[in-house]
Amino acid sequence: MKNQKEIEYPDVALNHRSLPSDPELRVRAIETLLLEKKLIKTESIDAIIDLYENKIGPINGAKVIARAWIDKKFKERLLSDARSAIQELPYIGKQGYNIIAVENTKTVHNVVVCTLCSCYPWSLLGIPPSWYKSDQYRARVVREPRKVLSEFGLKLSEKIEIRVWDSTSELRYLVVPEKPKEADGLVEKELVKYITRDVMIGTALVKVS
Ligand code: FE
Repeated sequence: MKNQKEIEYPDVALNHRSLPSDPELRVRAIETLLLEKKLIKTESIDAIIDLYENKIGPINGAKVIARAWIDKKFKERLLSDARSAIQELPYIGKQGYNIIAVENTKTVHNVVVCTLCSCYPWSLLGIPPSWYKSDQYRARVVREPRKVLSEFGLKLSEKIEIRVWDSTSELRYLVVPEKPKEADGLVEKELVKYITRDVMIGTALVKVS
C-alpha cells in the first residue's frame, strides 16, 4: 500500500498546475462553483456589477475631489483623515477599509497601485480598469513609475518627484489632483466632469477643455 505522501503530493501539484493564470478565468471558475452550490444567484452578481459600473463608477470620487477644490476646510480634513471626511458626504456609503488622500502639488505626483493583487477604492472609483490588475502595471509602476506614466501619455518633468502608493485590503489611496487654472469659476457639478478615474489613480492629469 502506498503511503499518504505518495498519493497526495502528485494530486496537489497537478491541481496547482491546472489553475487558470488569467484572473478572469479564475473569477469565472469561482462564480460557476458558487452558482452550482446555490450560494449566489446570477441576478445578484449582475446587480452588484451594475451598481459599481454604472451607478457608482468614479463619480463618488470625483464628487469628493470637487468638494475639496471648492472648500478649503474640507480639503484639509480630507488630507488629514480621508475616511471621516468622505463620510461627511451623505451620498457615499461607509468605506469597508481605511483610505488616505494623497495630494498632487507642483513638485510631487502620486500614483496608486496594488502590487499584491488589485485592492482599489471601489466605493469611490467603481470597478478597477483591467490594466490596474495586470501583472505588468503592478510590477513596473513601482520600479519605473516615470516610464509607465509616460506610456499612459503622462510625461512629467524630472523635477517632479513621483510617489507610488501600494494599496492593501485594509488601506486604499485616493489621489487629490491639482485644480487647473482653467477650472476657476466652475461650480462643483461642472468640476466633477473633469475629474476622471485615471486622474484619481494618478495615471493622468486633469484636462479642462
Ligand atoms: Fe490587492
